[in-house]
Amino acid sequence: MSAASSVMALVRPDLQAFAGYSSARSSALVGDVWLNANESAWANPADSEGRARRYPDPQPAALRARLADLYNCTPEQLLIGRGSDEAIDLLVRALCEPGRDAVLVTPPVFGMYAVCARLQNAPLLEVPLRDDGEALNADLDAVIATALAGNAKLVFLCSPSNPAGSTIALDQIERVARALQGRALVVVDEAYAEYAALPSAVSLLATHDNVAVLRTLSKAHALAAARIGSLIAAPALIALLRRCQAPYPIPGPCADLALAGLSDSNLQLTASRVERIKAERSRLQLALAVLPGVLRVYPSQGNYLLVRFADAQQAFDALLDAGVVVRDQRAAPQLHDALRITVGSTLENDRVLSALAARRVAA
Ligand SMILES: *Cc1c(COP(=O)(O)O)cnc(C)c1O
Repeated sequence: MSAASSVMALVRPDLQAFAGYSSARSSALVGDVWLNANESAWANPADSEGRARRYPDPQPAALRARLADLYNCTPEQLLIGRGSDEAIDLLVRALCEPGRDAVLVTPPVFGMYAVCARLQNAPLLEVPLRDDGEALNADLDAVIATALAGNAKLVFLCSPSNPAGSTIALDQIERVARALQGRALVVVDEAYAEYAALPSAVSLLATHDNVAVLRTLSKAHALAAARIGSLIAAPALIALLRRCQAPYPIPGPCADLALAGLSDSNLQLTASRVERIKAERSRLQLALAVLPGVLRVYPSQGNYLLVRFADAQQAFDALLDAGVVVRDQRAAPQLHDALRITVGSTLENDRVLSALAARRVAA
């Protein structure tokens, strides 16, 4: 089987020839009087420039080109979704036959992979992160063995990992992709890549068509409400997933906002803000580590810190009393004593530190 076609063998057989919905924007017809989509002849009074009257481009071309540029791929390798959440859902639906093809995850990890697997009735294979004393790392030998033994169609690797903060080196991802060639798609979720000192797995697509990468504008690009995520994968797979996606998934105003947010000058501002968060991450990590009652602060390549406490409930309550809401991780495997704290502005981080320090005085 050729490298070009092998990843398509991972798609559900019943969807291989699926044409999807043929939308009014997807045909090659050209005219200047558009009467093929039952749109209104007039703009809504609230829509002063009349930009929302027509259905949007299903994959807004200018935004797709800009994102492809940003992530070092071609537009044909990139699918824009309503957040990377939608891309995760599409992958599970298109690749996993219910009750048969499994999804592999590495808990504690981002919960959407398991949610989408559950909705598709895809068996869930769990390979826990391993604490080597330094960090909570993916156990890649176990990932490979479990994926092969358990008929995984999708393997989700989160790098930087949410909430653990650890990363997976590129040569290790490549090792997994090679071992699972023809068996599973290895999806590298790079939602926090902007904060990490690590090259993107996008470069692996040139040699491994069973690699896919997830990126998002929700975190470093500060556009969570616009719901713009990207899946980067083999063009044939992108085309198939596009046919499985809703007809007009990307609202026009969201596409416009995203494109504006990715202008040269705004990308520069984003990069400098990422540097500030990284500096704050170091400061917060060091300051937290010396607070009494803090057992451990994991090193993090994301914009958050995973922290173990002697009494996580007391820490959570003290923060809440000070008006600071953090993520309680205690229900997650291995994290019975942990909170995840997003790195905020300097003032916000100071609030965290003073609330936790005051708790010591009170105790
Ligand atoms: C936040 C997050 C996402 C979700 O991104 P959206 O693009 O907002 O859907 C995906 N993966 C991980 C690991 C995340 O933490």
